[in-house]
Amino acid sequence: MIEPPLVSPDTLSAAYRLLAEAAYRPISGGTDVLVALSGGLGAPPERLLDLWRLDELRGIALDGDALIFGALTTYAEIRRSAVCRDLLPAFVEAAATIGAAQIQNRGTLGGNIANASPAGDMLPVLLATDAVIVAGSVRGERSIPAASFWTGYRQTALAGDEIVVRIRIPLVADRQVRFRKIGTRRAQAISKVVIALSWVSAAPAEPWRSVRLGLGSVAERPIRATATEAFLEGRLPTSDTANTASVRVAAEIEPINDVRSTADYRRAVTGRVLYRLIREAGDW
Ligand SMILES: Cc1cc2nc3c(=O)[nH]c(=O)nc-3n(C[C@H](O)[C@H](O)[C@H](O)COP(=O)(O)OP(=O)(O)OC[C@H]3O[C@@H](n4cnc5c(N)ncnc54)[C@H](O)[C@@H]3O)c2cc1C
Repeated sequence: MIEPPLVSPDTLSAAYRLLAEAAYRPISGGTDVLVALSGGLGAPPERLLDLWRLDELRGIALDGDALIFGALTTYAEIRRSAVCRDLLPAFVEAAATIGAAQIQNRGTLGGNIANASPAGDMLPVLLATDAVIVAGSVRGERSIPAASFWTGYRQTALAGDEIVVRIRIPLVADRQVRFRKIGTRRAQAISKVVIALSWVSAAPAEPWRSVRLGLGSVAERPIRATATEAFLEGRLPTSDTANTASVRVAAEIEPINDVRSTADYRRAVTGRVLYRLIREAGDW
């Protein structure tokens, strides 16, 4: 294991100054960074900037019409959060599928976002809920919509000296959010396909509005299936809708063959899971 020099600032402004001065790799829970330190995944980081002492990056709060998560929020904290369970249960469901207890106690939402894996399980939910990622640096803060945050394979819109400071998820009246992860096991499984679907509808007989379909592990980055969203917009969750949407989403995505799954399997499963989510919503 490589042991690069590590600094542990105790204020956010000190962290920003250090990041402006040299190319530090931030480390939060370390559940991804520690793997990188083995050196088996390419060049390991040369300098680490530990964010763990920055209490400014902690906490889950309800702020008017939004839920705010500090970047250091762990999966265990999301699972324990009463406000999250009440207002955004799909987020709690997603957190419960990450790794297992050890990873959930240490891994953070900010780390999942910045790690930018196409298989990051929280990322489709952030896409489906129009989340905003707030980045900070010596220049101040800026808000980046989740839809434009992941720019390519393991690439993000963050500048080299920026860190994720918090995540804002707007709460929308009558919005439903559903989450499904397909993996080999119930724990310690990297996803083959992750789906988060959201829509706004005040009653079962009311057509869907503001449909969002966030997907993971089916492209080089977490994506929204915007053509399938457009098809679902204004429709009711009928059997015809489910059949056509499942065919459309399978045609829209561009999954790859890899050690976890084949592209054909991912297409079939994505279509099938979407079909089931629509069927459950329509209660038929
Ligand atoms: C055994 C195991 C099982 C796992 N299972 C899953 C799983 O089921 N689903 C899943 O999605 N992931 C899984 N992971 C991956 C990992 O646990 C998550 O991505 C986790 O959320 C990373 O958070 P962290 O705080 O540990 O990040 P770290 O390892 O500290 O950092 C990850 C990356 O983000 C950067 N970074 C961290 N915090 C910030 C910040 N605030 N601002 C800017 N950059 C930052 C780091 O520089 C690094 O590049 C697993 C990992 C392991 C080892």
